Amino acid sequence: MVLRDDLQSHLRQLLDVDRFRDYGPNGLQVEGRAEVRRVVSGVTASLELIEAASAHRADALLVHHGLFWRGQDGRITGWLRARLATLLAHGINLYAYHLPLDGHPEFGNNAQFGARLGLKADARFGEQDLGFGGASAALTSLAALTGAVQGVCGRAPTVVPGDGRTLQRIGWCTGGAQGYFEAAIAAGVDAYVTGEISEPQAHIARETGVAFIACGHHATERFGAPALAAHVASQFGLEHQFIDIPNPA
Ligand SMILES: [Zn+2]
Repeated sequence: MVLRDDLQSHLRQLLDVDRFRDYGPNGLQVEGRAEVRRVVSGVTASLELIEAASAHRADALLVHHGLFWRGQDGRITGWLRARLATLLAHGINLYAYHLPLDGHPEFGNNAQFGARLGLKADARFGEQDLGFGGASAALTSLAALTGAVQGVCGRAPTVVPGDGRTLQRIGWCTGGAQGYFEAAIAAGVDAYVTGEISEPQAHIARETGVAFIACGHHATERFGAPALAAHVASQFGLEHQFIDIPNPA
């Protein structure tokens, strides 16, 4: 068992939360019961995940995408009311860690995603050093990299080929990090992997020769929250269950 507030201070230290400027509050977003024994982890605090956590009689739900973001107008209506009401009715603590969970060198989304591809970061790039770069290891061709990404994400990625060069360095950043493509190119990568693609990246890939691979925001971000939750569960002797709510995005 761990006390709700002790878990929050532990996670704050572990993830170096105060280092990040983020789009929403990191940490305990919704206060539930004081003692935590059972933790459910997931990617996004959607109603379906919150209901699944309550069916698991979770005391805490640990996610990457929480409920509150800069730019919201502050009204607790509609879908937000339904999510909040379900959390409060069941006394579930909602812990959300966004950029600190992307960036953590061991339990973060980028570290965990890279590890599944056999990649280890030896460089960082992009805003707040969130992008990871490393030697390509066995993935020296675009076909090999695409196949590995498809295996990890469980679906075919969107690929904009570069100039067909041998891949010596690969950059990656999970989620909606298409905007870091140019920073990745400046850091010297031969291919860049992220969750999403927008219109400009196709042209930039063709014109710079650096391949761009997008394999889904959700699909690339399924690994950090369970890795972190499993770690704290073993530290405090908690039960932990990861629940994946499929998302085509
Ligand atoms: Zn995300």
